[in-house]
Amino acid sequence: MIKTRFAPSPTGELHIGGARTALFSYLFAKHSGGEFLLRIEDTDRERFVEGATERIIESLNWMGIVADNADKPMIQSERLKIYQTAAKKLVDEKKAYVCTCSKEELETERQSQIKAGQPPKYSGKCRDVNHQINDQSYVIRMKMPESGIIKIHDLIRGEVEFDASLQDDQIILKSDGYPTYHLASVIDDHQMEISQVIRSEEWLSSTPKHIILYEMLGWKAPEFAHLSMILGPDHAKLSKRHGATSVIDYKNQGYLPEALVNFMALLGWNPKDDREFFAIAELIQEFKLENVNKSAAIFDILKLNHFNAEYLKSKKLDLKDLENFGLKDLSSGELELISRGGFKTLKGVGEYILSLRKNPEYDPLLLIFKKSNKGKTLKALVISKSKFQTSNKWSEENLEKTLESIVAENNLTNGDVFWPVRVALSGAEKSPSPVELLLALGKEKSGKRIEKAIEKLRNLESID
Ligand code: GLU
Repeated sequence: MIKTRFAPSPTGELHIGGARTALFSYLFAKHSGGEFLLRIEDTDRERFVEGATERIIESLNWMGIVADNADKPMIQSERLKIYQTAAKKLVDEKKAYVCTCSKEELETERQSQIKAGQPPKYSGKCRDVNHQINDQSYVIRMKMPESGIIKIHDLIRGEVEFDASLQDDQIILKSDGYPTYHLASVIDDHQMEISQVIRSEEWLSSTPKHIILYEMLGWKAPEFAHLSMILGPDHAKLSKRHGATSVIDYKNQGYLPEALVNFMALLGWNPKDDREFFAIAELIQEFKLENVNKSAAIFDILKLNHFNAEYLKSKKLDLKDLENFGLKDLSSGELELISRGGFKTLKGVGEYILSLRKNPEYDPLLLIFKKSNKGKTLKALVISKSKFQTSNKWSEENLEKTLESIVAENNLTNGDVFWPVRVALSGAEKSPSPVELLLALGKEKSGKRIEKAIEKLRNLESID
């Protein structure tokens, strides 16, 4: 059975890079009816952030990337004994060794290597000393082979080779008794029976160490797939500067999870045709690692906005979602207006509808279309007001017809009529069409706003 995992470190919020890794691991597993598991890698106590685990899980749930062990994810800090026992066994078997070099000593060594233009690497001072495990401060290091080539068959990149002599004797157990990521992830991937490790490219250089650890422990290594980086449009590493934030921030800004998931899927995966829109079930059906690019993916916020606008238009909006943005009791006209599109985010929807509900403030001159004049505008508004007042069918079709008949029957142009009605209702130079506004505001509010516009125009000093 295919089993994948997502193994975040709880050092902060879940960002786009991590979320995409989780998504691809999820899609790969679900494509073949396999399991997708969650593991919390909290062995770096200095970088641990209280509450981060909960927020990562909340972000995953919001996106619908729910792990099969979501009710009880594997937590590394609860498994220290397992890692300690394995590390000590490797020491007994002379595959690892106790190192007592102090931090200061190691730092001096590193600096002098850098000065000499060499890549920093542990000298191996303790490698053959055979220190015993004792009360002193120590770490355990794995004994990397001193020569040879370590080969990895990466499912995205193909064969990748590493020169063993350039590899460090990696610390596997730290002086605080916690394992390093390397040891813990190898043991856990084995115990969770992970068949494919899908993770970001930054871990590719650690993989030779992992391959050797699997060998030392006598276990078969899983397959590996390293996902390329996500870059900003300027080809620099993705950061806040590019508008990329955490998953929770996207939620708070009013992005829909469906849009974010669809957008992230296309960050590196390619359906091999020109389709763009995929629901998560379709992604599961179509996802193949063969169609994941080796080259970096470019994060384009405009594309995300485009997806979000499309999803906002097509989705039957969840009123609960809108409540988070201050919108309660949406009228059917307001819902209709939202579904007409043009909104980038739920937050944008919220702000717009709330502002629409308030009486608009505007310069009365705005009521007069550039090719019209005060007289015609007043005439158009007065007639509109009475027609709407007596309209007994507040429907799109009827309102459209009413406006058209005002134009036709009074020797006016579209600009003379549609423009001032729209401005009277919205107070803005640019806004949805008058019919959309009439539907969203309803008969009573619309009538009052047109009346107010008439009053404003009448009070305007003569400009004709
Ligand atoms: N804890 C690592 C991270 O947060 C996981 C790396 C892996 O997937 O092996 O990136």
